[in-house]
Amino acid sequence: MARIANFTAGPAGLPTAVLEEAQRELLDFQGTGMSIMENSHRSKTYEAVHNEAIALVKELLGVPDGYQVLFMQGGASHQFAMIPMNLLAAGKSADYLITGHWSERAFDEAQIVGKARIAGTSKASNFMKIPAQSELELDANAAYVHMTSNNTIYGTEWFAEPNVGNVPLIADMSSDFLSRRIDVKKYGMIYAGAQKNIGPSGVLLAIMRQDLIDGGRTDIPAIFRYSTFAKNNSLFNTPPTFAIYLVRGVLRWVKGQGGLEKIEAINNEKAKKLYAAIDGAPDYYKCPVDKPARSHMNVVWRLPSEALEEKFVKESEKNGLVGLKGHRSVGGIRASIYNAVSVADVQKLVDFMTAFRAANAA
Ligand code: PMP
Repeated sequence: MARIANFTAGPAGLPTAVLEEAQRELLDFQGTGMSIMENSHRSKTYEAVHNEAIALVKELLGVPDGYQVLFMQGGASHQFAMIPMNLLAAGKSADYLITGHWSERAFDEAQIVGKARIAGTSKASNFMKIPAQSELELDANAAYVHMTSNNTIYGTEWFAEPNVGNVPLIADMSSDFLSRRIDVKKYGMIYAGAQKNIGPSGVLLAIMRQDLIDGGRTDIPAIFRYSTFAKNNSLFNTPPTFAIYLVRGVLRWVKGQGGLEKIEAINNEKAKKLYAAIDGAPDYYKCPVDKPARSHMNVVWRLPSEALEEKFVKESEKNGLVGLKGHRSVGGIRASIYNAVSVADVQKLVDFMTAFRAANAA
């Protein structure tokens, strides 16, 4: 069986071992004579899977007491709405750090719900950098500060949290959650759509501080309140059970790899290899991103012409490398090197880059 080297931005590749386990268990999960999909979400069988996934998130990230792990649906975009609906009370204002398309979408939703302001932006650089602390104009009375920790389209990443004082920091970590260690207590809330580093699409994972859960508005429908999910162990209604089962598989795999410290080291190695290949051929490949802000998850670069970029994508596919076309809004090449992409996959890409440059001089 040939598994392709998958550099897609998301839904992204999953560890082969996790898919193989799902395949083995598809028709008969643990002697129940049915798939985990066909088990009731109220069954002991499913509940064990659900609770193990939550426990693994806490263990792998060292989630301190006073936080809850929540599973929800609707993706990260749903959170763009749910966050202000719950936390942006009348008379309050929320601060947004704008570092790309997804932070703009989050800001748009907040403005529909209440008062939101831009407390920092890298738009003037076409989102090719992360704002410095000195460039932020934070409101000390804000309800929260919202940031996007990794900018999937532009290839930038915050490697240190901004200092936001006592205001709760909320991070959309959709494209770098579980890729490195983080200090959860610096955040009021972290959330991520699963489809890049954690599992398949259809489930969203959040880690949220209890005071924010408890302080949320109660005059909105129950299904939109964080407290509803928190009080019911994310089993208020039917959760996406098969997706959560796969998330558990990925979390077990991460643990089996040696946990986040090891995963982070592997991700650093992959990023270093790829950026070295780009920077090592400055006449041909160019990464437009400010060096300290270069994402370890989504690596973007240009070739001397759009025609060569098109050829690069076409030929890479013929060589078993898929998903390298940059986002339609920025063009160029983008390699998403999430956890399931191996060092060997990145090496294949680097070798292809060398051969392509030799055969296609500008
Ligand atoms: N935030 C980030 C950083 C993303 O990369 C994406 C999707 N690529 C989203 C939000 C939107 O996620 P969803 O499709 O789950 O709503």
